[in-house]
Amino acid sequence: MTVLVVDDQTATRAALRAQLMQMGHRVLEAEGADDALRQFHRRRPDLVLLDVEMPGHDGLWIAREMRSLEPDGWTPIIFLSARRHDIDLWQGIAAGGDDYLVKPASPMVLAAKLRVMERLTLMRRRLVEMSETDPLTSLRNRRAFDLRLAQEIASARRERSPITLVLCDVDCFKNYNDALGHQAGDRCLKAIGAMLNLACRRPRDVAARYGGEEFALILPGTPRDGAAAFALKLEQMVQLAGLPHPRSVVANTVTLSGGMVSCIPDETVNASRLIAAADEALYAAKAQGRDRFVSIELERRPKPAPREVCIL
Ligand SMILES: [Mg+2]
Repeated sequence: MTVLVVDDQTATRAALRAQLMQMGHRVLEAEGADDALRQFHRRRPDLVLLDVEMPGHDGLWIAREMRSLEPDGWTPIIFLSARRHDIDLWQGIAAGGDDYLVKPASPMVLAAKLRVMERLTLMRRRLVEMSETDPLTSLRNRRAFDLRLAQEIASARRERSPITLVLCDVDCFKNYNDALGHQAGDRCLKAIGAMLNLACRRPRDVAARYGGEEFALILPGTPRDGAAAFALKLEQMVQLAGLPHPRSVVANTVTLSGGMVSCIPDETVNASRLIAAADEALYAAKAQGRDRFVSIELERRPKPAPREVCIL
């Protein structure tokens, strides 16, 4: 773990640093509130060891600030203090601390407490992962997709870079299930999910299960022509896989229909507008006979034209 040690005493920090490094942790140090919060924000430590009594803002204040800096996260904070009354421990926990040790803590107690926190952090990470993963396909689920899409639109807007959203689904999937059963249907979705995952070559590309037999892909930094190339590659993969589909109206193998929307988002573009547009394109692909991808470029909404003023 990377551990941030906050203490105004140089000697205390040095002693802790030596102990932590012996345990195999990386150590960051801060001697006051400003430095502590800056490092917490920039270096993202896995755990904080926090002194309570310091000149200026004390450890309790720093803990409250740290908690407000990560409303959706939880970095473990262990207080280290010379104060040994129950009320001190109580105040430390109330301020957002996870544990409270009286100084000087024995190296073995400190090591044990760090192990507990490490274990909790791992469990928390696993839970977050589970809550964002679709169990059948192991792709991201709808919840993770929604979060990610909003983030990627915001950064594309900031960077004035293109973004493409793809919605696609398996053609005649109900017929597939009717003909081969739901377990075969699940296997089909798994196979398609694996292909979508493979098609996402760049680190920020995201494939997600949108719901049922629908999938969604976020392709940051991808303009319309790049999206067309992506779709072509995906179609080739699906065709090559040649999963038999006994009751498709378009082919004797499984095929996909997709809708793609690309744009450089301005302030009028949000997730729901992109999804609506991709949905419209997907609908068009279905209407044109399925087994194809339809791409659209999102029009910028024109600013209202200035009214002409007639002076008579
Ligand atoms: Mg102190």
